Amino acid sequence: MKDQGVLIVGGGLAGQRAAETLRRRGYEGPLRICGAEPVAPYDRPPLSKRVLAGEMADEDLAYRPRDWYRDHEVELVLGDRAAALDPVAHTLRCESGARHSYGRLLIATGGAARRLPFLAHPNVHVLRDLADARRLRRTLGPGVRLAIVGAGFIGQEVAATARGLGAEVTLIEALPTPLAPILGEEIGGWFADLHREEGVDVRLGAALAEARGGAEVEELLLADGGRVACDVVLVGIGTVPATDWLAEHGFAAGVPVDAAGRTPLPDVFAAGDAALAFDPAAGTHHRTEHWEAAAWQGAAVAKAMLGEESGTPPPASFWSDQYGLRVQCVGDPRGADGTRLDGDPAERDFEVLFTRAGVPVAGLAVGRPAAIRRFRKQIEGGVAIVEREELVI
Ligand SMILES: Cc1cc2nc3c(=O)[nH]c(=O)nc-3n(C[C@H](O)[C@H](O)[C@H](O)COP(=O)(O)OP(=O)(O)OC[C@H]3O[C@@H](n4cnc5c(N)ncnc54)[C@H](O)[C@@H]3O)c2cc1C
Repeated sequence: MKDQGVLIVGGGLAGQRAAETLRRRGYEGPLRICGAEPVAPYDRPPLSKRVLAGEMADEDLAYRPRDWYRDHEVELVLGDRAAALDPVAHTLRCESGARHSYGRLLIATGGAARRLPFLAHPNVHVLRDLADARRLRRTLGPGVRLAIVGAGFIGQEVAATARGLGAEVTLIEALPTPLAPILGEEIGGWFADLHREEGVDVRLGAALAEARGGAEVEELLLADGGRVACDVVLVGIGTVPATDWLAEHGFAAGVPVDAAGRTPLPDVFAAGDAALAFDPAAGTHHRTEHWEAAAWQGAAVAKAMLGEESGTPPPASFWSDQYGLRVQCVGDPRGADGTRLDGDPAERDFEVLFTRAGVPVAGLAVGRPAAIRRFRKQIEGGVAIVEREELVI
């Protein structure tokens, strides 16, 4: 029977990794990537860091030069958004009306920035793709008053980059401590202090009540009566899976997959921020939303398509760059009941091991890349450590 080929929907990290893995492991059939953006697959993390700072050219973001796609016979169909999937006929319809048939399909459409309905003004930004980064970059500069709604990693990284560009930054966070649900109160508090030391006005436990101004937002009012005057607003309140086009299949909130990335639909796989990966420890599906997981899942799907073992997913991990500091985390700190600190948080040089019943479950390192390799081994080893101390910063 003729090979109908592999169709990858979404030209991001997971899609690119899947295409590369398929070709590297000998797949010779038709291979096509359909992406909504008009540009070839590129790396997203620098968008909030060096690209926004103007230190890295947009062209340098591409995973591969255009020749690579020609040489490896990977067809790129760009600037056309997937609109509907017919899993019985094995066809994908795009917004242009184009239809693509497939033998096997990978859903790798990533995430979309969450927005606030009452903040739809021209000076309100989100940051998910290169077009967003270009728009935001044009507005930043010395003295520009930037209000950032949400002190997650995107909000914090943009705060750091904008400070480097001389902007006056206010960081507005609804939680009493940023990142506390993931990293705990102490580490979250350390991040708040880091930004304050760098001249950011950090407002915590601050709910947005209203946006004032004319065509553009000029002031944000907070529920506690606080006010934030601004020229530019960035909304950084997380992402939703970019799977609204799959609502009729029940996937509007993400696509559930098994360890090899198989969905409940025949010949359909999913990977990256669009997927709900299965967590055997918790017995539930959840989104991973980090670079390393998307890369691993894209490669795992390619192997599964070739009938190979995908292997065991590595522990979750992510990094963040802020004010010249690299923050890295491996494992899942949620649910830890103990922490061990080494180093000096005030000097921005420390590491924290998170434990549960004495067993290492996660590690966070600030400015210590070697610690992450060690943490990874400890977590994978799962061996209990003897003494336990509480973290005091
Ligand atoms: C600004 C920024 C900074 C980040 N920094 C870090 C970091 O420091 N560390 C870290 O671990 N992670 C970071 N991440 C997260 C990381 O980049 C993502 O987890 C990763 O890119 C997910 O890969 P993906 O392939 O699932 O999705 P994406 O890379 O988002 O790719 C999805 C692609 O699908 C396209 N698409 C969407 N809908 C459709 C459709 N209907 N039809 C066709 N195409 C569609 C999108 O336009 C996009 O090109 C960052 C993300 C952003 C946005």
